[in-house]
Amino acid sequence: MSAFRERLDALCRELHVPSPVQSLTPDWPGAQAVHISIKRDDLIHPVISGNKWRKLSPTLLSLSSPPSRLISFGGGFSNHLHALGYASHRLQLPFTAFVRGDYRQHPTPMLRDLHHWGTDVRYLTKADYRRRHDPAFVSSLHGDAPQALVIPEGGSQQSALAGIQHSLKEQPLVFDTVICPVASGATLAGLVSALEGHQQAMGIAVLKGQQYLESLVSNLLDRPYANWHIEHAYHHGGYARNTDELIAFCDAFETQTSVPAEPVYSGKMLFAVRHMISKGMFPEGHRVLLIHTGGLQGARSY
Ligand SMILES: *Cc1c(COP(=O)(O)O)cnc(C)c1O
Repeated sequence: MSAFRERLDALCRELHVPSPVQSLTPDWPGAQAVHISIKRDDLIHPVISGNKWRKLSPTLLSLSSPPSRLISFGGGFSNHLHALGYASHRLQLPFTAFVRGDYRQHPTPMLRDLHHWGTDVRYLTKADYRRRHDPAFVSSLHGDAPQALVIPEGGSQQSALAGIQHSLKEQPLVFDTVICPVASGATLAGLVSALEGHQQAMGIAVLKGQQYLESLVSNLLDRPYANWHIEHAYHHGGYARNTDELIAFCDAFETQTSVPAEPVYSGKMLFAVRHMISKGMFPEGHRVLLIHTGGLQGARSY
């Protein structure tokens, strides 16, 4: 076996999969009328964040030989760049991360980790960052780009869906509605495509994007599906925006359940679920499965 494949196998052996599913009994109004469980993808690896591993794994596992370089994109707190930075360090793959904005004066904990892992970090102006989907522009940024494996922002591409589908199939799960946070839509799209029978998927938008987020999900799916929708009332002002109420909710939830919640993704999802349950939006006895998508590294700056 190649050294690359051995490194990949060693990384895979560290993963805590299937990720544990636990039932939740929070003291939320109305919560006793429904069954809530949470799939703890935040626990699959101490460094690689839950859904980012799920989305990257089909790409990494399909490589028969190592690419000369990985290239990807993200913000200064990106869970995706963090997961990919760690994976490329472990796999000894050269990795260039293009970051939106210039953090040289104030590197985030995420960027410090990337530097520690030997990632080639390049800062782009917001205007240049907008051109990240243009292959000619990417080539002009990086001479290796024609041979490099370019992974889109968030790891969100068609191939990512298989990793999310796998997460829903890796153990028997009994639920009526599965719920996850939504940013680029690949996690929700993967869940939607893995549902059976009467099951529904619900996304909680973590940014302002009515219609836009729906189109991202639809574009990733191979055909139209009728078993999903996105709730848009719980973004708390936009991506990575929050309120004192949300922060206090996350703290209280964590104290009560011992399940960590950060305010960018999982906290907004949990806040939404509490609110919807209190409004009686789920019938009595409904079985809700929450996906804890990880992302706790991003909360180190809070
Ligand atoms: C990236 C991320 C999401 C959003 O997933 P998408 O597939 O981009 O919709 C949700 N939760 C966490 C923790 C993330 O890091």
